[in-house]
Order: sequence, then structure tokens, then C-alpha cells
Amino acid sequence: MSELNVKFGEKEISLPAPATAADAIKAFDRDALKRTLAARVNGAEVDLYSQINIGSGYAAIEPITLDSRDGLEIIRHSAAHLLAAAVLDLFPGTKLGIGPALMDDPRYGFFYDVIAPRQLTEADLPIIEKRMKAMAKQNLPYRRENVDKKRILEIFKERGEPLKCELIDEKVQEAASIYYIDNSPFIDFCLGPHVPHTGKLQAFKLLALSGAYWKGDAEREQMQRIYGIAFATQNELDAWIKQREEAEKRDHRKLGRELDLFSISDDYGQGLILWHPKGGIVRMEMERLLREELEKRGYSFVFTPHIAKRQLWSISGHEENYAESMYAPTSIEDEEYRLKPMNCPFHIGIYKSSPRSYR
Ligand SMILES: [Zn+2]
Repeated sequence: MSELNVKFGEKEISLPAPATAADAIKAFDRDALKRTLAARVNGAEVDLYSQINIGSGYAAIEPITLDSRDGLEIIRHSAAHLLAAAVLDLFPGTKLGIGPALMDDPRYGFFYDVIAPRQLTEADLPIIEKRMKAMAKQNLPYRRENVDKKRILEIFKERGEPLKCELIDEKVQEAASIYYIDNSPFIDFCLGPHVPHTGKLQAFKLLALSGAYWKGDAEREQMQRIYGIAFATQNELDAWIKQREEAEKRDHRKLGRELDLFSISDDYGQGLILWHPKGGIVRMEMERLLREELEKRGYSFVFTPHIAKRQLWSISGHEENYAESMYAPTSIEDEEYRLKPMNCPFHIGIYKSSPRSYR
């Protein structure tokens, strides 16, 4: 029988081969395995129950635990798959787009883009969530298979998944991994890793439904995006929901209306603020504070116009590089002007207004 040399931090042992990442972690620290979702083998993220495949030398094993950021990402990513599995289960014939984890969005933790046989509504979210919870309880394994490109395309073509086929065609060279959630209708083309089984997903919630386009392109298929959030524990999820409710209470649009500070109306344009008298007081006070602080710190004040001749923005290079994000030129007394995208050319003008020595 061959042996496998594995390292766990400073410790080294030999294991009978073949062995999985889970075997190795268990050999070093039985308790650690309970908290572990996946592993890094010589730096590469792998599923916990994938075989360690290193040839000769040492395999440095690092558990990815559920209290780490990478662990949270695996939870959210796996939850997105569970969402797709529940949608496929409830609405056979649904076509899948993409479903990533979101780690830096304060509102959501994952989403999946789908085209269901009928338009989904907000009322479907609790039903889908309930199905996800039922599937989580069944401890369904996430199973990886390595497949060559031709076969992957066949599989997804047979399943009537044209968008996945498009993605596979673009991204796969020769072979890639696909994942099954066993005893569910779910298959996805994905690099992984995932949690070993759906039972590891214990704290998740679906939050919202919105429209989306395939590849964000308004010319392409219209899809529905289902948003959710997931954490390692119910406590973390509860705290997050509470925090979100508190933030909603402090939403500036809500406070602006309730405290009669300002109003926004689509008649004038989204995001254009009409300051009411009380809001005016807040604004003046903030401006006063800002001015005082700037003076205290030795800043001088200059003022420059909001528009300048078009020629200036051509010389500065703004027109050449940023014309698409600038407002269109406007003609005043036979001269073309543009609204300033930046202050710098004006400040250069102030500098140039008197001769200066390079010393
Ligand atoms: Zn995946």
C-alpha cells in the first residue's frame, strides 16, 4: 500500500493512500473536522471529501473552517446552489444563469439568476425557502465529477440549459468539473469547493426578487434574480436581520420625509434633492462646521465656474478620455461650453494666473 505524506501546520504524518482532505484533518485533529467545510491542499481549495492528489512530496493541509471568511463564502456559494436546486425542484424546466456568493454587498449574501416556466413573484420566495430548508435537512451530498468539454455540453444540452452551454463553451478548454446535489434535480458547471452536504447549511433566508439580464446585457434573455443571505449560524443570521431592520429605520429617504428635511420626486429627477427649511438648517450647520474645520487646518478657499469652453476640456484630455460620462456640450452666444467633470483645469488656471519661478 502506498503512503501519503501530509503536513498540518508544523506537524507531519504519513497516511495510507488514497486519502481525502477529511482523512488528513481527522488524523491530526478530530475536533477540527466538525468545524471544517472544505480544505486547502498545497494552497488550492478543494472539497473536504476529495482525494488528495499530489504525486510525490508533502501535501500541506489547511482546514477552511465555518468561522472564517473563506468558510462563509463557501456557505453562501453552496446556498446559492441549494436555491437553484429548490427552484428546479418546484419549477421543472427552469433555466439557470449564474449564482455567485456576494461577500461585500451589505444587502445580500448570494443570488441565482433563473428563467422559470412562469414569472416568479415575491409570494414564491417563502415557498422556495421552505423547499431549501427541507432539502438541507436531508443532508444531500454535493458531488463533484470531472468531465470533458464535449460531455459537459451534451449534459447541459440534454437538460435544456442553453445559457449554461454558452458559458461552458466560453470558459472550458478541455475538461472541467460539474457538481450534483444528489437526490435533487440540480447539476451545475462550477469549480467548487462546496460544503460536503446540504445539512451544513443551517442559517439562510431569501430576501428579494428583481429583474436581470443574461450577462447584464439588455439585448439578451431577461431573467429573474433571487437574492438571499446565509451565515454559519442562526445567531449570526438573526443579528444581521436585526441590523438590517435598524438600518432601514434610519434610511435617509424615510427620515427625510418623516422629519420634513427634504423631498425627492420623479417629476424633478431621481436623486435630485429639494431641501425644505428644516433640512436647510442641517445643511447650513454642516457647511459651517466644514468651513471652520478647513480654516482651522490652514486651507484657503477658491471658487471656479461650473462650465468652461469646450476647448479647455479638449486640452485637458477629459473630452478625449471621458466624453461618454460628460454632459453634452451646450452653445452660448456661438461658443461651445461643457459642464465641468472636474476642477483640476480651473485650479491649474489659478496657478498659471501669475508668473512663478521653478525654484
Ligand atoms: Zn459551485
